[in-house]
Amino acid sequence: MLITQLKSKETIASLVEDKKVFIVNCKGCMEVHFPEKEAEELQKELCAGGNVTGIITTDYICNPDNMKLRLKKHMAQIAAADVVLVFSCGVGVQTIAEYLDEKKVCAACDTIPMPGFQGVTPLEYDCDQCGECYLNLTGGICPITACSKSLLNGQCGGTKNGKCEVDPEMECGWERIYRRLAMMGRLDVLGYPVKIRNYATDKEVAAE
Ligand code: SF4
Ligand code: SF4
Repeated sequence: MLITQLKSKETIASLVEDKKVFIVNCKGCMEVHFPEKEAEELQKELCAGGNVTGIITTDYICNPDNMKLRLKKHMAQIAAADVVLVFSCGVGVQTIAEYLDEKKVCAACDTIPMPGFQGVTPLEYDCDQCGECYLNLTGGICPITACSKSLLNGQCGGTKNGKCEVDPEMECGWERIYRRLAMMGRLDVLGYPVKIRNYATDKEVAAE
C-alpha cells in the first residue's frame, strides 16, 4: 500500500509561481490514501489567483490508455498551461510526464510506503515510494527506479554507449533524465544543490 502526501505549500508555490497551471487529481487509489481536503484547499487558493487553466479529477492515470483518454478533451487547456501539476503517486506523474514529454509536469505529492498488499495493476513505470519525490528535479523520470544505483545527484560515470554499467541491457537512467531536460530546455535544473535524501522515509530503512 502507499500514501500520497502533499508536498509543503512553499514547495508547491515555487513550482507554480507566476505560471499558468493545469491540475490533475488522481483518485484511483483513494481507498489507500489521497490527501483530498488539503489538495482541495490548495487548489482553491491557486484558482483564486486566476492562473489555473483547468482541473480534472479522475482515476488510474497510471494506466496510459486511460490517462490519454481522460486528458484528450483537455489538450487546449493543457497547451495553455506552463506547468501540469499532478496530485498522485510517482507512477501517475511519470506516466503523464512521458505522454506530455515537452511540457513541465510536476509532482505535488510525495509517495510514502505502507506495509501490506500492493496493487496488481500492470504499470509501465516504477515508483519505489521513496517518501521524498524527486521527479520535479529530473524531468519526470524517477532516479530511484530508472538508475540501478538509485543515484540522486547525477550519473555514476560507468555508462557505456548510453547503457547502464550494472545492467548493459538497460538504458542509463541519468542519460534519459539529461535528454529529457535538454529537450525541454531545463538543463539548469541539474544545478540543484546536492540534496541529502531523507532516508527515514525509505521503506527498507523504516523496516529495520
Ligand atoms: S522519486 Fe521515484 S521513488 Fe521517489 S516518490 Fe518519486 S517516483 Fe517514487
Ligand atoms: S550507468 Fe546510469 S543507470 Fe547505471 S548506475 Fe550509473 S548512472 Fe545509474
